[in-house]
Amino acid sequence: MFVDSHCHLEMESFAKDRDQVIKKSIDEGLKYILTVGTEERYFETVAEIINSHPIVYGAIGIHPHNSVDFNRNAAETIRKYLKQKKIVGYGEIGLDFFKNYSPKDRQIKAFREQLALAADEGLPVIIHSRNALADTMQILGEAYRNMRGGVIHCYSYNRETAKRLLDMGFYISIPGTITYRSTEELARVVEYIPAERILAETDAPFLTPHPHRGKRNVPYFVKLTVGKMAEIRHQQIEELAATICENFVRLFLNGREVQTE
Ligand SMILES: [Zn+2]
Repeated sequence: MFVDSHCHLEMESFAKDRDQVIKKSIDEGLKYILTVGTEERYFETVAEIINSHPIVYGAIGIHPHNSVDFNRNAAETIRKYLKQKKIVGYGEIGLDFFKNYSPKDRQIKAFREQLALAADEGLPVIIHSRNALADTMQILGEAYRNMRGGVIHCYSYNRETAKRLLDMGFYISIPGTITYRSTEELARVVEYIPAERILAETDAPFLTPHPHRGKRNVPYFVKLTVGKMAEIRHQQIEELAATICENFVRLFLNGREVQTE
Protein backbone atom coordinates (compact mmCIF):
# COMPACT_ATOMS: atom_id res chain seq x y z
CA MET A 1 0.00 0.00 0.00
CA PHE A 2 0.95 3.63 0.02
CA VAL A 3 -0.56 6.83 0.99
CA ASP A 4 -0.42 10.56 0.64
CA SER A 5 0.97 12.56 3.47
CA HIS A 6 1.96 16.07 4.23
CA CYS A 7 4.48 17.88 6.40
CA HIS A 8 4.55 21.61 6.89
CA LEU A 9 5.93 24.31 9.17
CA GLU A 10 8.87 23.68 11.38
CA MET A 11 10.74 21.59 8.87
CA GLU A 12 13.50 21.94 11.47
CA SER A 13 11.89 19.18 13.51
CA PHE A 14 13.09 16.70 10.85
CA ALA A 15 16.55 18.23 10.37
CA LYS A 16 18.37 15.47 12.27
CA ASP A 17 16.66 12.34 10.98
CA ARG A 18 14.77 13.29 7.81
CA ASP A 19 16.40 10.60 5.65
CA GLN A 20 15.59 7.89 8.21
CA VAL A 21 11.98 9.09 8.50
CA ILE A 22 11.59 8.96 4.72
CA LYS A 23 13.21 5.51 4.54
CA LYS A 24 10.91 4.22 7.29
CA SER A 25 7.92 5.72 5.45
CA ILE A 26 8.87 3.78 2.31
CA ASP A 27 9.30 0.60 4.39
CA GLU A 28 5.84 1.21 5.88
CA GLY A 29 4.35 1.21 2.38
CA LEU A 30 3.87 4.88 1.58
CA LYS A 31 3.96 5.69 -2.13
CA TYR A 32 3.84 9.49 -2.09
CA ILE A 33 4.76 12.20 0.38
CA LEU A 34 3.96 15.84 -0.23
CA THR A 35 6.22 18.19 1.71
CA VAL A 36 5.03 21.76 2.07
CA GLY A 37 7.17 24.90 2.36
CA THR A 38 5.01 27.52 4.02
CA GLU A 39 7.55 30.34 4.26
CA GLU A 40 10.31 31.55 1.95
CA ARG A 41 13.00 30.28 4.32
CA TYR A 42 11.77 26.69 3.74
CA PHE A 43 11.65 26.74 -0.07
CA GLU A 44 15.27 25.69 -0.54
CA THR A 45 14.80 22.79 1.91
CA VAL A 46 11.78 21.62 -0.09
CA ALA A 47 13.88 21.74 -3.28
CA GLU A 48 16.66 19.71 -1.66
CA ILE A 49 14.27 17.06 -0.31
CA ILE A 50 12.36 16.50 -3.54
CA ASN A 51 15.58 16.29 -5.52
CA SER A 52 17.05 13.60 -3.27
CA HIS A 53 13.95 11.46 -2.60
CA PRO A 54 11.83 10.10 -5.50
CA ILE A 55 8.87 9.47 -3.13
CA VAL A 56 8.64 13.11 -2.06
CA TYR A 57 6.90 15.88 -4.02
CA GLY A 58 6.72 19.53 -2.99
CA ALA A 59 4.36 22.45 -2.63
CA ILE A 60 5.27 26.02 -1.76
CA GLY A 61 3.30 29.13 -0.89
CA ILE A 62 3.02 31.76 1.83
CA HIS A 63 0.94 30.42 4.74
CA PRO A 64 -1.86 32.63 6.11
CA HIS A 65 0.13 33.05 9.35
CA ASN A 66 2.84 34.76 7.27
CA SER A 67 0.55 36.75 4.95
CA VAL A 68 2.40 39.99 5.73
CA ASP A 69 5.44 38.46 3.99
CA PHE A 70 3.64 38.05 0.67
CA ASN A 71 4.72 40.81 -1.69
CA ARG A 72 6.08 41.24 -5.23
CA ASN A 73 9.52 39.89 -4.29
CA ALA A 74 8.04 36.81 -2.63
CA ALA A 75 5.89 36.20 -5.72
CA GLU A 76 8.99 36.37 -7.93
CA THR A 77 10.87 33.92 -5.71
CA ILE A 78 7.89 31.56 -5.75
CA ARG A 79 7.64 31.67 -9.54
CA LYS A 80 11.33 30.77 -9.76
CA TYR A 81 10.84 27.67 -7.55
CA LEU A 82 7.70 26.64 -9.43
CA LYS A 83 9.88 25.92 -12.47
CA GLN A 84 10.96 22.70 -10.70
CA LYS A 85 8.88 19.81 -12.05
CA LYS A 86 8.47 18.10 -8.67
CA ILE A 87 6.85 21.16 -7.12
CA VAL A 88 3.32 20.08 -7.93
CA GLY A 89 1.12 22.24 -5.70
CA TYR A 90 0.71 25.82 -4.51
CA GLY A 91 0.18 26.26 -0.78
CA GLU A 92 -0.61 26.31 1.96
CA ILE A 93 -2.58 29.49 1.32
CA GLY A 94 -5.80 30.63 2.93
CA LEU A 95 -7.18 32.23 6.05
CA ASP A 96 -6.64 31.56 9.75
CA PHE A 97 -8.80 33.76 11.95
CA PHE A 98 -8.21 31.47 14.95
CA LYS A 99 -4.58 32.47 15.40
CA ASN A 100 -4.67 35.78 13.47
CA TYR A 101 -0.86 35.91 13.29
CA SER A 102 -1.30 38.26 10.31
CA PRO A 103 -4.05 40.92 10.24
CA LYS A 104 -7.28 39.84 8.53
CA ASP A 105 -7.06 42.29 5.63
CA ARG A 106 -3.49 41.17 4.85
CA GLN A 107 -4.57 37.51 4.95
CA ILE A 108 -7.41 38.17 2.54
CA LYS A 109 -5.15 40.12 0.17
CA ALA A 110 -2.41 37.45 0.18
CA PHE A 111 -5.00 34.69 -0.30
CA ARG A 112 -6.61 36.36 -3.34
CA GLU A 113 -3.28 37.22 -4.94
CA GLN A 114 -1.85 33.74 -4.43
CA LEU A 115 -4.98 32.08 -5.83
CA ALA A 116 -4.44 34.18 -8.95
CA LEU A 117 -0.73 33.28 -9.07
CA ALA A 118 -1.50 29.56 -8.74
CA ALA A 119 -4.15 29.81 -11.47
CA ASP A 120 -1.67 31.61 -13.70
CA GLU A 121 0.91 28.84 -13.11
CA GLY A 122 -1.72 26.13 -13.64
CA LEU A 123 -1.11 24.53 -10.24
CA PRO A 124 -3.62 23.00 -7.80
CA VAL A 125 -3.83 24.82 -4.46
CA ILE A 126 -3.63 23.59 -0.87
CA ILE A 127 -6.08 25.61 1.22
CA HIS A 128 -5.65 26.21 4.95
CA SER A 129 -8.88 27.58 6.45
CA ARG A 130 -9.54 27.82 10.16
CA ASN A 131 -12.35 29.81 11.81
CA ALA A 132 -12.71 31.64 8.52
CA LEU A 133 -15.60 29.90 6.81
CA ALA A 134 -17.54 32.86 5.36
CA ASP A 135 -14.53 34.64 3.84
CA THR A 136 -13.01 31.39 2.56
CA MET A 137 -16.23 30.44 0.78
CA GLN A 138 -16.68 33.88 -0.72
CA ILE A 139 -13.12 34.09 -2.04
CA LEU A 140 -13.08 30.53 -3.38
CA GLY A 141 -16.54 31.05 -4.88
CA GLU A 142 -15.17 33.95 -6.92
CA ALA A 143 -11.93 32.21 -7.90
CA TYR A 144 -12.60 28.51 -8.43
CA ARG A 145 -13.66 28.64 -12.08
CA ASN A 146 -10.23 29.92 -13.12
CA MET A 147 -8.30 27.49 -10.90
CA ARG A 148 -6.63 24.13 -11.56
CA GLY A 149 -8.51 22.72 -8.54
CA GLY A 150 -7.15 22.05 -5.11
CA VAL A 151 -7.60 20.48 -1.71
CA ILE A 152 -8.98 21.80 1.57
CA HIS A 153 -6.33 20.52 3.96
CA CYS A 154 -6.94 19.57 7.61
CA TYR A 155 -10.65 19.83 6.96
CA SER A 156 -12.46 21.20 10.03
CA TYR A 157 -15.91 22.34 8.80
CA ASN A 158 -19.22 20.46 8.56
CA ARG A 159 -20.85 18.28 5.92
CA GLU A 160 -22.93 21.06 4.34
CA THR A 161 -19.77 23.11 3.75
CA ALA A 162 -18.05 20.01 2.37
CA LYS A 163 -20.84 19.66 -0.16
CA ARG A 164 -20.38 23.26 -1.34
CA LEU A 165 -16.62 22.77 -1.68
CA LEU A 166 -17.07 19.46 -3.52
CA ASP A 167 -19.49 21.23 -5.87
CA MET A 168 -16.69 23.70 -6.68
CA GLY A 169 -14.47 20.73 -7.55
CA PHE A 170 -12.24 20.65 -4.48
CA TYR A 171 -10.79 17.58 -2.79
CA ILE A 172 -11.03 17.25 0.99
CA SER A 173 -8.11 16.06 3.12
CA ILE A 174 -8.56 14.45 6.52
CA PRO A 175 -5.92 14.78 9.28
CA GLY A 176 -5.08 12.64 12.32
CA THR A 177 -7.71 14.42 14.42
CA ILE A 178 -10.21 11.86 13.07
CA THR A 179 -8.59 9.33 15.46
CA TYR A 180 -9.39 11.49 18.52
CA ARG A 181 -12.54 11.23 20.64
CA SER A 182 -15.53 13.51 19.93
CA THR A 183 -15.11 13.80 16.19
CA GLU A 184 -18.72 12.99 15.21
CA GLU A 185 -18.98 15.98 12.88
CA LEU A 186 -15.73 15.10 11.06
CA ALA A 187 -16.78 11.45 10.91
CA ARG A 188 -19.98 12.52 9.11
CA VAL A 189 -17.78 14.34 6.59
CA VAL A 190 -15.53 11.29 6.12
CA GLU A 191 -18.60 9.14 5.48
CA TYR A 192 -19.94 11.65 2.98
CA ILE A 193 -16.95 12.52 0.73
CA PRO A 194 -17.13 10.64 -2.59
CA ALA A 195 -14.25 8.21 -3.18
CA GLU A 196 -12.79 10.25 -6.03
CA ARG A 197 -12.35 13.38 -3.85
CA ILE A 198 -10.95 12.07 -0.57
CA LEU A 199 -7.36 12.56 0.65
CA ALA A 200 -5.52 11.94 3.93
CA GLU A 201 -2.57 13.74 5.50
CA THR A 202 -0.45 13.94 8.60
CA ASP A 203 0.23 17.69 8.82
CA ALA A 204 3.51 16.48 10.35
CA PRO A 205 5.00 17.41 12.76
CA PHE A 206 1.57 18.43 14.10
CA LEU A 207 -1.79 16.72 14.78
CA THR A 208 -0.30 13.35 15.70
CA PRO A 209 -2.92 10.59 15.53
CA HIS A 210 -3.93 8.40 18.46
CA PRO A 211 -2.19 6.50 20.12
CA HIS A 212 0.93 8.63 19.53
CA ARG A 213 -0.59 11.98 20.57
CA GLY A 214 1.99 14.19 22.26
CA LYS A 215 4.82 12.86 20.09
CA ARG A 216 6.12 14.37 16.85
CA ASN A 217 3.96 13.38 13.89
CA VAL A 218 5.67 11.53 11.00
CA PRO A 219 4.41 10.71 7.48
CA TYR A 220 3.86 6.98 8.09
CA PHE A 221 1.42 7.69 10.96
CA VAL A 222 -1.01 8.57 8.14
CA LYS A 223 -1.80 4.84 8.13
CA LEU A 224 -3.55 5.30 11.48
CA THR A 225 -5.66 8.09 10.00
CA VAL A 226 -6.52 6.08 6.89
CA GLY A 227 -7.33 3.06 9.09
CA LYS A 228 -9.86 5.11 11.06
CA MET A 229 -11.31 6.61 7.87
CA ALA A 230 -11.69 3.12 6.36
CA GLU A 231 -13.52 1.95 9.49
CA ILE A 232 -15.95 4.91 9.27
CA ARG A 233 -16.51 4.25 5.54
CA HIS A 234 -16.90 0.47 6.03
CA GLN A 235 -14.02 -0.19 3.65
CA GLN A 236 -10.80 -2.19 3.73
CA ILE A 237 -7.81 0.03 4.50
CA GLU A 238 -5.97 -1.24 1.40
CA GLU A 239 -8.88 -0.24 -0.81
CA LEU A 240 -9.15 3.27 0.65
CA ALA A 241 -5.36 3.74 0.55
CA ALA A 242 -5.36 2.81 -3.16
CA THR A 243 -8.16 5.31 -3.79
CA ILE A 244 -6.27 8.07 -1.95
CA CYS A 245 -3.15 7.39 -4.02
CA GLU A 246 -5.12 7.59 -7.27
CA ASN A 247 -6.64 10.88 -6.10
CA PHE A 248 -3.22 12.28 -5.22
CA VAL A 249 -1.88 11.37 -8.66
CA ARG A 250 -4.94 12.85 -10.42
CA LEU A 251 -4.87 16.14 -8.47
CA PHE A 252 -1.15 16.81 -8.18
CA LEU A 253 0.60 14.78 -10.86
CA ASN A 254 -1.86 15.32 -13.70
CA GLY A 255 -2.45 11.59 -13.58
CA ARG A 256 1.21 10.77 -14.16
CA GLU A 257 4.34 10.35 -12.06
CA VAL A 258 7.18 12.83 -12.39
CA GLN A 259 10.80 11.71 -12.40
CA THR A 260 13.35 13.25 -10.06
CA GLU A 261 15.39 15.76 -12.04
ZN1 LIG B 1 -2.39 24.22 7.59
